Amino acid sequence: MNILVVGVGYVGTTTALLFAELGWNVVGVDSNERKIQDLENGVLPFYEPGLDTLLKKHIESGKLSFSTNLSEAVKHHDVIFICVGTPSMEDGGADLQYVRQAATTIGASMDDYKLLVTKSTVPVGTQRQVVQWISEAQSQSIPFDVVSNPEFLREGSAMHDAFHPDRIIIGSDTEAGAEQLKRLYRDLECPYLVTSPATAEMIKYASNSFLAVKISFMNELARLCDQLDVSISDVAEGMGYDTRIGRSFLRAGIGFGGSCFPKDVKSLLHTSKMLGEPLRLLQDVVAINETQYIYVLERMRKRLGSFQGKQIAVLGLSFKPGTDDMREAPSLSIISYLVEHGAIVQVHDPVVRMPAPLLTDNLAQFADLQDTLSGADAAIICTEWPEYADADWASLKKAMKQPLLVDGRNMLNRERLQAVGFTYVGIGNG
Ligand code: NAD
Repeated sequence: MNILVVGVGYVGTTTALLFAELGWNVVGVDSNERKIQDLENGVLPFYEPGLDTLLKKHIESGKLSFSTNLSEAVKHHDVIFICVGTPSMEDGGADLQYVRQAATTIGASMDDYKLLVTKSTVPVGTQRQVVQWISEAQSQSIPFDVVSNPEFLREGSAMHDAFHPDRIIIGSDTEAGAEQLKRLYRDLECPYLVTSPATAEMIKYASNSFLAVKISFMNELARLCDQLDVSISDVAEGMGYDTRIGRSFLRAGIGFGGSCFPKDVKSLLHTSKMLGEPLRLLQDVVAINETQYIYVLERMRKRLGSFQGKQIAVLGLSFKPGTDDMREAPSLSIISYLVEHGAIVQVHDPVVRMPAPLLTDNLAQFADLQDTLSGADAAIICTEWPEYADADWASLKKAMKQPLLVDGRNMLNRERLQAVGFTYVGIGNG
């Protein structure tokens, strides 16, 4: 079977490389010509450990190639994965215009049976909508199946997650469609769950929303722990030993960001609002998340008196380590808040470069950690990059004007930082 992947962003590129590595012939199509040029030259348009090596390998092996011509590519492929973006609209709903464009072009171009697989995260009911868009675009009736196969990879470990998924969810109306998709994944050992398309779509939203609930629960509890002089990190460890709870997603911090959690939670809330079935817990999850960074910055401000004229170092820009993705990164809200309140901000990230137009007299980026902290009245860690865990904080302290360190990810050891003279402020650690 020949595989076509439509939309070669994080998910599409990872999907294309997974199937090339599993031995299938794959073509990746994107409407962004620059992206396709880069990929053809073996250059990843984003940072993701491990993917670049695999990209070069499969361009050379001939298993993977790229194109910008979707109509033409449709004709030569049996299975088509839709991996285009589904960003948030103003009202929180998912913008399906890219899915619709892809479905319409596919419908208008197909000349034979096709299996369409939706990997993009889409609201419940979208599979039915895609079937309709394709049917309407066809000039004559040609059979096809549309299967929902949500993606669960995490940026920063995309390759590992693609090859070692916790599960593969296949939402299909037909047994044949589900079986065909299973055959593509045949070498991956993990549980397979075949459901209706709508259920598969809901599983994706429910999973991301549940993880967001865990994060906001711990962040809200952290605020109480600060009042009670209790360590949220110790509470998380104590909770995590309980296998019913699990250890992951219990670390308090400045809140969640990225291209998925904020948009997916809002999309599910939008669906619930449309149906008059409010999800109150998720409404609170969003409210807690949107105020968490302010809570943390206010703890810094209390110690500084005011942000006006203060030099603040912001360490980490990406929404999490291992990626250069800044979509909805809490660091951006933190930088805006600091600048709005009169601070002079110096940022650092081991991978991400702040877009030049965003840099001003009050906002500069440094490549070196020591330079970033030089003369700073305070620093805040926004991304748990290993570079910050491994830094020589004793020497960095000497560069700062005031040794105030706000650990927005609760990643450093308080005692060690205090021992070298820092005023260490964690989150939910009293
Ligand atoms: P992305 O923005 O990195 O990539 C989307 C790509 O689709 C872009 O390169 C864009 O140019 C292309 N595109 C848009 N319309 C097109 C069209 N009509 N024809 C061809 N190409 C087109 O997005 P992403 O992060 O890869 O996410 C894709 C989907 O997967 C989203 O629905 C997202 O919610 C979901 N998802 C993302 C992740 C993640 O970690 N990034 C994880 C799981 C699921």
